[in-house]
Amino acid sequence: MSNSSTSTTLTVATLDVATLGTPRIGPRRELKTALESFWAGKIDEKSLFATAAELRAANWARQKARGVTVIPSNDFSLYDQVLDTSVMVGAIPAIYGWKGGSVPLATYFAMARGSEGEGETCSHGHAHHGGHGVPAQEMTKWFDTNYHYMVPEFTRGQTFALSSTKPIDEYKEAKALGYQTRPVLVGPVTFLKLGKSKEEGFDTLSLLDNLLPVYVEVLKRLAAEGAEWVQIDEPCLVLDLDDTARQALRRAYAVLAEAVPQIRIMLAAYFGDLGDNRDTALALPVAGLHLDLVRGADQLAAVVAKAPKQLVLSLGVIDGRNIWRADLPSLLEKLEPVVAGLGGGRVQIAPSCSMLHVPIDLDAETGLDADVKEWLAFSLQKMSELAVLGRALSGHRDEVADQIAASKAAAAKRKASPKIHNPAVAKRMQAITDQMRRRNSPFDARAKIQHARFGLPLFPTTTIGSFPQTADVRKARAAHTKGTLGDAQYEEFLKEETARAVRWQEEIGLDVLVHGEFERNDMVQYFGEQLEGFTFTKQGWVQSYGSRYVRPPVLFGDVSRPKPMTLDWWRYSQSLTKRPMKAMLTGPVTILNWSFVRDDVARSEACRQIALAIRDEVVDLEKAGARMIQIDEAALREGLPLRRSQWTTYLDWAVESFRLCSSGVADETQIHTHMCYSEFNDIIDAIGAMDADVISIETSRSKMELLDAFKTYRYPNEIGPGVYDIHSPRVPDVAEMKELLVLARKRLNDAQIWINPDCGLKTRKWDEVRPALVNMVAAAKELRALA
Ligand code: GLN
Ligand code: ZN
Repeated sequence: MSNSSTSTTLTVATLDVATLGTPRIGPRRELKTALESFWAGKIDEKSLFATAAELRAANWARQKARGVTVIPSNDFSLYDQVLDTSVMVGAIPAIYGWKGGSVPLATYFAMARGSEGEGETCSHGHAHHGGHGVPAQEMTKWFDTNYHYMVPEFTRGQTFALSSTKPIDEYKEAKALGYQTRPVLVGPVTFLKLGKSKEEGFDTLSLLDNLLPVYVEVLKRLAAEGAEWVQIDEPCLVLDLDDTARQALRRAYAVLAEAVPQIRIMLAAYFGDLGDNRDTALALPVAGLHLDLVRGADQLAAVVAKAPKQLVLSLGVIDGRNIWRADLPSLLEKLEPVVAGLGGGRVQIAPSCSMLHVPIDLDAETGLDADVKEWLAFSLQKMSELAVLGRALSGHRDEVADQIAASKAAAAKRKASPKIHNPAVAKRMQAITDQMRRRNSPFDARAKIQHARFGLPLFPTTTIGSFPQTADVRKARAAHTKGTLGDAQYEEFLKEETARAVRWQEEIGLDVLVHGEFERNDMVQYFGEQLEGFTFTKQGWVQSYGSRYVRPPVLFGDVSRPKPMTLDWWRYSQSLTKRPMKAMLTGPVTILNWSFVRDDVARSEACRQIALAIRDEVVDLEKAGARMIQIDEAALREGLPLRRSQWTTYLDWAVESFRLCSSGVADETQIHTHMCYSEFNDIIDAIGAMDADVISIETSRSKMELLDAFKTYRYPNEIGPGVYDIHSPRVPDVAEMKELLVLARKRLNDAQIWINPDCGLKTRKWDEVRPALVNMVAAAKELRALA
């Protein structure tokens, strides 16, 4: 890269640099601490609000210090920005007993968490709610991120009214501190599209005209307080949209532009390419359009060519969802001609999307390998990168020459590092054959061999893997991590827990046992920590939902398995019983989807590498005598691309990776898999193609309706439809489980059916698990009597 900047770059004070949104949790998870103290009654509302205000102030100050010129407000939330929007417009279902007026905090948290008892989590810690009292709103994934939002709920013809002045309050709060911010709102069309209705046959977008007056009011009030720009997020612009949705966008922005012409709207479309919505987006009467140029890098030229003369383009060039340091010189090379063409006044530099999805500060990491650390950037480092781009692109490249050079050096070092590139892995990848992705015989033949070998009764009973992670288990793990509990004592403790669980399963008469997963902190982390190519942060928390934060593993290099990961635990637990002990692994697609993934190879390739490592484990387990091996793919569906047209490609490599990791065994070895809370209709072909001998799924809450997809598809392999909702502390009785099984028998052949809970039992208490599984075994016996 030559230093050609002078020839193409204009000199202006500086290009505007925006963040779109920042992590709200606080560098030391202050928000979580405050929320949990508040919920526990240890602090009052006032002190919760004080902490929130401190976090916002610190956040604004950090952005300013790093050189951000377009600082957002209202990107903060006590729980979730979509919930904030529901509350802002008064979309509050009747069960919460709200009578109008400004929404009390208690109502807000009731919508977030239910009014009594804790929100419930699935055993892998991702989003679920249940429990008693007034239930929380439903929760689901925010586009294809691992952030979860509270699903708005609408009724036909409902009206809206401004019920929270949060955007205005936070704008004023920032202003009082000396920041002219750009408030952020979830766009009206995205908001309605994300919402659900319990009534049949009504399109939530039909509520648009009822909703818009609230947005108009918010914009007017913001204008009255002095706001010039407002960022309106419409990530629905990167989805497959029908004409109704496009019409809704046109209508919404026409109304807003006409009603509040004094506000300049920056319309933010992120998480992908605008694709076939490009012309719709470009025709909207807004002042600015934000583009995701990480996911949708190819759209820039066409957008620039077609953009109306006055439109400000916000170029999302720094990855807001991943943690890699940018290669600034190559970005500059791409951006210089664009900026020169458009003029500095028409360009802003931004991350691809809000930085909500990345950890806050890389400098807080003390344990990372020094090289790896050099290749990373968290939100604060990304702000600096944005600022450097802004300076360089406005004719001040000399000033930031050092940072650009450092970025270039880091990128070069990363490219060549032996820590990333493992020739042995490359060689194995080359040597993958079709044969390696196929079991020796088709399912029918395998099933015969397996049935003869195992001699299990009809409707065999089993569980999904984990048993309660009690306070004792967590305490022991924490002590071991801290070093206050020695390796030997910790192992002794885990062995006792495991032995007790195994004995108990035998006692109550389960047919296929599990060891309980007491040694695992998390189903992905446990494997990541033992694989080459992964590393872990100490403070790299990102919000999964509400006050739940996760520290995703960082996949930075070629993956390999230096030594067996689960073999000893399997051997030990099988030594305790004659019954089959299922070995328990996490599948490659799930490991990939719940990690920060390297950006220098394709996801499919990274996944295949993980698959090879898991395959090694599967083969070793079989060699050691494991008769059944379960490979969990809880997150397979989560990885589906936002655009339908890309589904096949993803599903092909995802299924292929599963087959690669599971097909190294003989016919007589039974491969199980497990998937949580999935809808199966639209991916049933892929599920079939995985060709697992047995799949366990979550079905209890759907009253077995999920099985319709399997029935229609004539899914031939064995299935364990969950009969016990593990998200709730409730203990189902025998009759209830039997009833579900009767429903299952209407859709499946008896020989196909296994009996198990919906998911792992990690988050439950033994007092709940014990009676529930005793009932489950009894239900199986009664069912056998019917058959
Ligand atoms: N084996 C894991 C467990 O039982 C599976 C959890 C999951 O898929 N979410 O916890
Ligand atoms: Zn599950």
